[in-house]
Amino acid sequence: MKIVIVGGGPVGCFTGYLFAKAGHDVSIYENHGKIGAPIQCTGILTSSFDQFEFLMDDFLVNTIDTIEVYSPNKKLRVKQKDYIVCRTKFDQYFAKIAEKEGANIYLNHAFVRKEGDELIIVHEGQEKKVTCDVVIAADGPLSTTAKAFGLYHKGRENYYGIQAVMEGNFEPHVIKTYFGNDVCPGLFAWVCPENASVARVGLAMKKNSRAFFEKFVEGRGWKVTQMQAGTIPLYHPQQKIRKGNCYVVGDASSYVKATTLGGIVPAFKQVEIVVDCILNNKDIEKEMKPVRQQMWTHLQVQKIMEKFSDKDWDRLIGYVAQPKIQKVFEKYTRDNPIPLITSVLLKEPRFLRFVRYLV
Ligand SMILES: Cc1cc2nc3c(=O)[nH]c(=O)nc-3n(C[C@H](O)[C@H](O)[C@H](O)COP(=O)(O)OP(=O)(O)OC[C@H]3O[C@@H](n4cnc5c(N)ncnc54)[C@H](O)[C@@H]3O)c2cc1C
Repeated sequence: MKIVIVGGGPVGCFTGYLFAKAGHDVSIYENHGKIGAPIQCTGILTSSFDQFEFLMDDFLVNTIDTIEVYSPNKKLRVKQKDYIVCRTKFDQYFAKIAEKEGANIYLNHAFVRKEGDELIIVHEGQEKKVTCDVVIAADGPLSTTAKAFGLYHKGRENYYGIQAVMEGNFEPHVIKTYFGNDVCPGLFAWVCPENASVARVGLAMKKNSRAFFEKFVEGRGWKVTQMQAGTIPLYHPQQKIRKGNCYVVGDASSYVKATTLGGIVPAFKQVEIVVDCILNNKDIEKEMKPVRQQMWTHLQVQKIMEKFSDKDWDRLIGYVAQPKIQKVFEKYTRDNPIPLITSVLLKEPRFLRFVRYLV
């Protein structure tokens, strides 16, 4: 089959790798002149990434063993293993393995529209027409491709993430997260160390993220070495994956955990299913159900968090601080919210008080 992938981000390149490895003719069109730039990501991967069995030497920057969580008046530490990657090297790694399997990557090539069955790609001001058997829309949160194929759900919402690479003094293996309505209403601010003297510091909100970011870093004595920002989609349960011969994956399909806005691990799981369904003629929505259930669960928790008062955050931290609850958090990664929530509710029914925010 002739496969065209729009978007040479990690998800497009991983998809290209899987199709090329299966012997198909793959072209990846990327509108930037370099894979992996500009960086718009903190680069945190949960240990669930181990399931994909890739050697991480090419892109691993740091390994985390603890997450420190601050509410307005409390704090706690939870043991969690996370990886911190360099997003430029990470994206380039997946581009490299896709090419090694035979995929062609065209840089400075932008998909602009579709005319009948033809895709119109612009390169150096010239339009060229491309036809194929399968189109993969992997062109990020604002996906021009999904829109052109009538696949972009109109009800979708986005967060706006803003972060800086900062110099300062940091605990090298501890990610710090800060919750509360004065810090980042509805979500959290993060300090994610590359090492003891460099960290990626940021937050994401639906609006006003820059003002809250400036307030968060003010007076901490850190020095900004690079600013980064980007759009992050909020998962939309009605976002379809397929229309005709077009399939939408990754941020383009809003497959991002609504609680943490981590998109890479869920998108990689999604892509494995999409490619398997295309190659083996399986029902995509049926196969996608378990991943959709996880994404939906994250969305419900996000809806609750959006309504939290500062008192709720303190209460939540108080409940989680109990050793019996900490053990549950140490057992499950954030990618696996259903057993995590079920176990936590069984051990501490007072968590149910927050469910009222869903009504
Ligand atoms: C501030 C911030 C922090 C984040 N932190 C994390 C984190 O710690 N962990 C995590 O898992 N996720 C994080 N995310 C989310 C993560 O970055 C995304 O989920 C991930 O990049 C999705 O990959 P993708 O390939 O689907 O999309 P993208 O990485 O957006 O790649 C899409 C590619 O398509 C190209 N493109 C766009 N339009 C066209 C077009 N018309 N023609 C051709 N090419 C096109 C773009 O140039 C880009 O290269 C963060 C996001 C932000 C903004």
